[in-house]
Amino acid sequence: MTILPTITLGICSDTHGEQLPHWPGHKIHAVLHGGDVYHAPTLAHGDNYANPRAWAAAQSVPVLAVRGNHDYRDPDGFLDLAEDISGRLYRIAAGLWVAGVGFAPEWYCDTPGERDLEPQCRDLIRMASRQVMPGERIILLTHYPPRLPELPCDEASAGCAYGCVADLMETLGPIAVVFGHKHDWFGLRWRRAAGTLLVSPGPLGGVLTIRANSEVVFEAGTAFNDDKNSVDSAESTR
Ligand SMILES: [Zn+2]
Repeated sequence: MTILPTITLGICSDTHGEQLPHWPGHKIHAVLHGGDVYHAPTLAHGDNYANPRAWAAAQSVPVLAVRGNHDYRDPDGFLDLAEDISGRLYRIAAGLWVAGVGFAPEWYCDTPGERDLEPQCRDLIRMASRQVMPGERIILLTHYPPRLPELPCDEASAGCAYGCVADLMETLGPIAVVFGHKHDWFGLRWRRAAGTLLVSPGPLGGVLTIRANSEVVFEAGTAFNDDKNSVDSAESTR
């Protein structure tokens, strides 16, 4: 059996043309952005504008991203430097893949429907069956959350999570799922009974550490950025 090194990833999502995190003191192997790099209604930049292309250029490691519903244009050329892995499998290290689910409509709209994401989920299952070898690990990076019982989708948030993404997750068996889109879940994480870590990093981001034994740990950005008193959710297990 191959002994795999510990891999450390900088993760974030939903930066919406503003905050872009950094990972001081961490040796990052790659950066994963869970989509909504831009803020569609204000593609003309606001006061707190931060250029995502310059941020991607400042990273000395691969930057992988999926498209969110706000990313129907790429006015700053972020994706000239970052890798758009929406609907793709990307091998980031020996024995470690990232599967990407992202979707941006032709024009801005709140959310895609299941039918918009289903073909991509099917393609990813087909690709993984051909490319991912037994014993290799997958991280699922998806702008759109899987619809799972442990995620607090209430009436008001119906439509925020997707059955086809949950089905994809059950088939791929990822060690971690990193997702965005749902702003009131930022900074939260959940651990499934099978061990899969579900993480919503949000714009403050965080660090995902994958140990050789496939254990995955998330440290929220609030833990190492300025505001140490911000909410850093306790991990719930079910
Ligand atoms: Zn979104």
